[in-house]
Amino acid sequence: MPAAENQQQLDIAAERARCTFDPAQLTPLFYGDEEKLKRFKQIETLIDNDPIFDRSDRYFLGRTERFQRSLPMVKRYVELRNQHGFTPEESSYFKIYIDDYIPAQASDEQLKVWGPPAENFNYIGCYAQTELGHGSNLSRLETTATLDIERDQWVINSPTQSSAKFWIGTLGKTANHAIVQARLIIKGKDYGAHPFLVPIRSLKDHTLLPGVMIRDQGPKQGAISMDNGYARFDHVRIPRENMLMRFSQVSTDGVYSKPIHPKLAYGGMTAQIPFYRDCKILTLSMVSIAATIATRYSAVRRQGNVNVATDLESQVLDYPSVQYRILPLISHAFATIFSGYWMNEMYAQYNADITKGDASLLKDVHVYSSGLKSYCTKLGADGIEEARRCLGGHGYSLFSGMIDFHRQFLATVTYEGENALLTQQVSRYLLKLYRDVVRDPGVHLSPASKYIFSLYHHGLFVKQRCSARSVKDFYRPEVVLGAFQHRAARLIYELSEAEKNGATWSELNLECMRLSKAHVQYIMIENFCNGLEKRFGGDTTTEEQRNLYAAVQSVYNLHVFWTLETELGEFLEDAYFSPEQAQWVRQGLKEALKSVRPNAVGFADCFGFSDTFLNSALGSYDGRAYERLAEMTEREPLNTQLTDKNGVVWGYEEYLKPLIHGQVSPYSAKTSKL
Ligand SMILES: Cc1cc2nc3c(=O)[nH]c(=O)nc-3n(C[C@H](O)[C@H](O)[C@H](O)COP(=O)(O)OP(=O)(O)OC[C@H]3O[C@@H](n4cnc5c(N)ncnc54)[C@H](O)[C@@H]3O)c2cc1C
Repeated sequence: MPAAENQQQLDIAAERARCTFDPAQLTPLFYGDEEKLKRFKQIETLIDNDPIFDRSDRYFLGRTERFQRSLPMVKRYVELRNQHGFTPEESSYFKIYIDDYIPAQASDEQLKVWGPPAENFNYIGCYAQTELGHGSNLSRLETTATLDIERDQWVINSPTQSSAKFWIGTLGKTANHAIVQARLIIKGKDYGAHPFLVPIRSLKDHTLLPGVMIRDQGPKQGAISMDNGYARFDHVRIPRENMLMRFSQVSTDGVYSKPIHPKLAYGGMTAQIPFYRDCKILTLSMVSIAATIATRYSAVRRQGNVNVATDLESQVLDYPSVQYRILPLISHAFATIFSGYWMNEMYAQYNADITKGDASLLKDVHVYSSGLKSYCTKLGADGIEEARRCLGGHGYSLFSGMIDFHRQFLATVTYEGENALLTQQVSRYLLKLYRDVVRDPGVHLSPASKYIFSLYHHGLFVKQRCSARSVKDFYRPEVVLGAFQHRAARLIYELSEAEKNGATWSELNLECMRLSKAHVQYIMIENFCNGLEKRFGGDTTTEEQRNLYAAVQSVYNLHVFWTLETELGEFLEDAYFSPEQAQWVRQGLKEALKSVRPNAVGFADCFGFSDTFLNSALGSYDGRAYERLAEMTEREPLNTQLTDKNGVVWGYEEYLKPLIHGQVSPYSAKTSKL
């Protein structure tokens, strides 16, 4: 970094000087480990040095131009991937670092199914489940796949407007194959939705195949370069083998074999499992991008109170109301990564089991990944917007770097399992576990749901009270975890009672949202707590290690107090917390914000983002926010293309001059002739 030249650079340098730990020590946590971090940084260099991925004028481009740029990116990505032999993880990182929705979204599962042609992008795929009239409710999909036993073929048909596939990423212009979810029909019997591999465009010249009608579906809030598409199938024939038969099979004579677990019939049903891995990285990267930009800018932005000694206004990051809206993003990023590691372990175990025909972990994996997906994406979508607002007017500029990626991220709350609906699946599962416990108190529950046993003696349960005697007690994990367990258990009990008393499931949607959130918040706090101890609490012999541990602990405390404070009502409503304890929680939150504040810029740095990736005038490493804002205006097409050499705007002669020179008849309300 060059020598400090202005107040903003002085400010950011001072922030780094007072940081109590070395941010670089934390960076590997967010990328897996040192080795992965090194390789990911090499990938960044490849991308940064390649003009195809240049993002310097991205904020000035419309949808058509962004799409035109995305196709060369896909080709270059495949070339680089093949040349360097990226692992799947490196490929994912590559796509995240490009930070554009390029039409190259095939999942590992799809790649496995399609094999080498898909891996080499001869087959460009998409996943076509959603229909115009049917989204969340897979059981009502209308597209059919009817077996023609004589010709050993499926006939794919979308008979109505509402059965048209819609929202399908890469379908609009790019893909040549689709995994189509369609109702499987044999001899008039309907077996429900199953996935089929359907060729949609010619491999020879990319024209649409007979019977297939496809359009790009048009502009969207984000994912600008992605060609989400709309399709109808008119009796399209595909070989019988094109049904994806990993879990259920159909023989030549039309005999249907069920999957080992009924839920596996819907290939897409378990989408949240692999999705959570990507989503975790996405949520994490999006939340931490916002944390980085918002923290750095708020550290260099001075506004309001003036210090008489220095004549400087306050750094806005010193205002508690700013800290309250920005610093929790840092703790969300840490909380997400620790639960991500936990989820990955469970997923690895599930994968190992399923190859041996054991699907017993499926439900846990599905439910926990659904709950985490639902909670974390909402946390990210809401938190990023809150932090953006906190940046004042400059946060409204695309140059802030806070908007483009957030628009993209907003879709994650909807796709791969609509967030509110996922909470119903989590709640249904918890309710089932509760019933299992009531039936048999010796039943096996996984550690994350063991707290449900506390409901067995309900008379004792209702007498439970938080044991905190002062704010200090809220720093003890057993007090905090006990509170979160109690709240989740109570919500399970109340949901169960409401159902027993005749409420329909639909009437209990809100209760499901509350319960799922309560359960996930508990898991996340427990995972954060365990991860903190495991990774940083073990060896604290050197001062450096102790400082690092204390720093991450301060973020953990912030996560705990922020979550408690956000949900105070639910701890108070059954008197588990007393009003005084609620006050201590608020006090604890203020303390936690204060203790994270000195290291805030260090935490922003620890996420390890390059300035090129951030593409932000406000959040660059060197703090030169004002210069960068001014520099970016130089590239604005209104300034470069629509302005002559004298700085006069296009249209002046025709439209502005007649007004300015009084050549339009003067205004008078009385002369209205309408
Ligand atoms: C950017 C983007 C990319 C996408 N990519 C793909 C893709 O590649 N392939 C694909 O197949 N799909 C894709 N989708 C579609 C996505 O999967 C669906 O939008 C999602 O499943 C939700 O379905 P829906 O839009 O029909 O919403 P709906 O199901 O109509 O939901 C509307 C509202 O009703 C509520 N609701 C619905 N049912 C219930 C219920 N039973 N109880 C309570 N509330 C209910 C929901 O919570 C929601 O608030 C994409 C969507 C987006 C935005």
